[in-house]
Amino acid sequence: MTIQENISLLPYNTFRMDVKARYLAQYESIDELRELLNKFQDTRRLFIGEGSNLLFTGDFDGLVCQSKMCRAAATKETEEDVWIEVQGGLKLDLLIEQVADMQLYGLENLSYIPGQVGAGAVQNVGAYGREIKDCIEQVNAWDLQTMQSVSFTREECHYAYRDSLFKREGKNRYIITSVVFRLSKTPQLHLDYGNLKEYLQQDANPQQVRQTIIQIRKKKLPEVSELGSAGSFFKNPIVSADKFNNLKEKYKDIPSYPVGDNYKIPAAWLIEQCGWKGKTVGGAKVYDRQPLVIVNTGNATSSDICSLAKQIVDSVYNRFQITIDKEVEYV
Ligand SMILES: Cc1cc2nc3c(=O)[nH]c(=O)nc-3n(C[C@H](O)[C@H](O)[C@H](O)COP(=O)(O)OP(=O)(O)OC[C@H]3O[C@@H](n4cnc5c(N)ncnc54)[C@H](O)[C@@H]3O)c2cc1C
Repeated sequence: MTIQENISLLPYNTFRMDVKARYLAQYESIDELRELLNKFQDTRRLFIGEGSNLLFTGDFDGLVCQSKMCRAAATKETEEDVWIEVQGGLKLDLLIEQVADMQLYGLENLSYIPGQVGAGAVQNVGAYGREIKDCIEQVNAWDLQTMQSVSFTREECHYAYRDSLFKREGKNRYIITSVVFRLSKTPQLHLDYGNLKEYLQQDANPQQVRQTIIQIRKKKLPEVSELGSAGSFFKNPIVSADKFNNLKEKYKDIPSYPVGDNYKIPAAWLIEQCGWKGKTVGGAKVYDRQPLVIVNTGNATSSDICSLAKQIVDSVYNRFQITIDKEVEYV
């Protein structure tokens, strides 16, 4: 276990905010996590993964903890499926690369999403018509209240669009230590979303799907190594059928995806309609290639980013009477 004092968090957040933490600790086992919690009982604590969904708005006067628990192992196998238990600190994309190489289907549509497995299970990360919950069998966590390990079935995690128990009543209570995925040995492709079918045959293997998705994402999204961002800044709003039909009358080309009786509208379209593409506030900019993303052009302050985000939310509301919620978490 390492504990550092008065440390810059610049390498620990993809928005590249140069803020400081009073303490930064990295733990490699549940025993080390427990030791850390005992040592810093009365200190404010923040558990992070790769910091790719966070916006630090100032220094953190407390303990920032990052998991370095990165092991993965198969725990069960049938003719059709394999169960793999993966520790929360492993990078999700490293896992996906490995299971795609093993010809296991299920996670490939989530390729190239930054962040750790544990945070992915908190956030229910999703892309190209799939969410991480689709492959989750069980989530194991450390309960900060009882100071014991606890397990949740997928149902108990209350997964929804970019949402889970761990973002609501379980926030600041459960630290995800490992996730059990159930992956398929037989082809199970999900190519209906976006333009995936243009590039892939129905008999593509997981590695081919992965490489195609990586190429598409590289064209649309900023590389974290080149430009600071936290990916999509906003969630896509879901509106009632009545609301959608009213909008459709006025905006004939409004894109949408049915969600039960309701409709999901791409926030990128709403933001673009309001003329935000490429607009800046200080060093914060609406990304030219994907208006859902706010980037740090180099010297953005968190105030620049928050101000730009607020102006976007207000203008989308004024024009469409739709409130877009932010996906990025402010700390
Ligand atoms: C370029 C780019 C593209 C992106 N594309 C997508 C995308 O396609 N789809 C998508 O869904 N997201 C996307 N994201 C957002 C981001 O990658 C995900 O939200 C990811 O899950 C965050 O992981 P992280 O490890 O960086 O978590 P952090 O940002 O460090 O933390 C996120 C939250 O999880 C909590 N947390 C972290 N680890 C744990 C743990 N072990 N136990 C309990 N709580 C924990 C933190 O306290 C925080 O509340 C993108 C981000 C970027 C920068």
